[in-house]
Amino acid sequence: MISKHPFGTLPDGRIIERFRLSNRQGTLVDVLSLGGIIQRWELPDGRDIALGFDVAGDYLDDPAYMGALVGRYANRIAAGEFKLDGESIKVATNLQGHCLHGGPQGFNGAIWSCKVIPSDQGDALELTLSSEDGDQGFPGNLDVRVLYQLDDDNRFAITYQARTDKTTVFNPTQHCYFNLAGHESGDILDTRLQLKASCYTPANQEGIPTGELRSVQGTEFDLNALSPLRDRVLSQDKEILAAGGLDHNFCLDGFEATQQSLNEVALAVHEKSSTRLRVFTTMPGIQVYTGNFIPERPLGKGGANYDKYHGFCLESQFYPDSPNQPGFPSAILRPGETFQSKTVYQVEVD
Ligand code: BGC
Repeated sequence: MISKHPFGTLPDGRIIERFRLSNRQGTLVDVLSLGGIIQRWELPDGRDIALGFDVAGDYLDDPAYMGALVGRYANRIAAGEFKLDGESIKVATNLQGHCLHGGPQGFNGAIWSCKVIPSDQGDALELTLSSEDGDQGFPGNLDVRVLYQLDDDNRFAITYQARTDKTTVFNPTQHCYFNLAGHESGDILDTRLQLKASCYTPANQEGIPTGELRSVQGTEFDLNALSPLRDRVLSQDKEILAAGGLDHNFCLDGFEATQQSLNEVALAVHEKSSTRLRVFTTMPGIQVYTGNFIPERPLGKGGANYDKYHGFCLESQFYPDSPNQPGFPSAILRPGETFQSKTVYQVEVD
């Protein structure tokens, strides 16, 4: 079921709606028309496992991208430059001279058109956005459609679709910060993580991949067995120290370029609350980000004091800087094609 409620007003007077997706088990996921933000993810026992804010304006210019839909290009494009069919493209930069998460005015700050689509498998929330040719420097009028759906097995499915009228690149993701113990319960270092990833993309100090696909074997990036985040986040590994924790892209096993079906790629376990989060996706990569730069201000929901490592993101994506890396799966979208991808987060509590 999906119900609609007012959420708040931005300083310029624009009204933000909140859509509540709920299922028969008593799970609630609240989504905002602003940025398609997942503002609350409440389990039947009342635990809210998603970090977020109570005040709509706190989401504007939020450097953490709390809960937001990210685009046009999630993660980094080096120096905001790349070549597309021989043409040089320059996009807006917002992080150390690079383009992060689509540039300074990304999808996270846009107000999406939202519509409830009734269905036998449970209602879906459709969010649509038209991004004009040249938006943040990206070519093509891009029509984006995202569907959010919560089923009775506590699967929250995100389907992304897009069409363009000029060749462009497209790499959307969801930037929800999870804390399986509850958003206000401090750091996530006790959570254990498993990833089906034999390789990762090593990066320089600024998070720009070198182009290498490096085996995780024998490195701190081997998460094929369930591993406490504490060990990795606080590791003395040079790349982890440079990022202040995990902030790395993993190459998911089993991905194929024509991928339609979901691969189960990640499992996060919080033992004390017997809670598990599973991630399934059709995408080739996942950025594991342990909230290394979560700012202490503004205050989180209910006055919660968030700090670094208080939430983790599992961002399904093309690899960072793919437009400059011919060896990476391609993020190019051409006129006449429909981009389609799907990512599912499933929460289980014993
Ligand atoms: C990036 C981080 C960044 C964070 C919030 C993550 O997806 O990889 O480097 O700090 O988003 O902006």
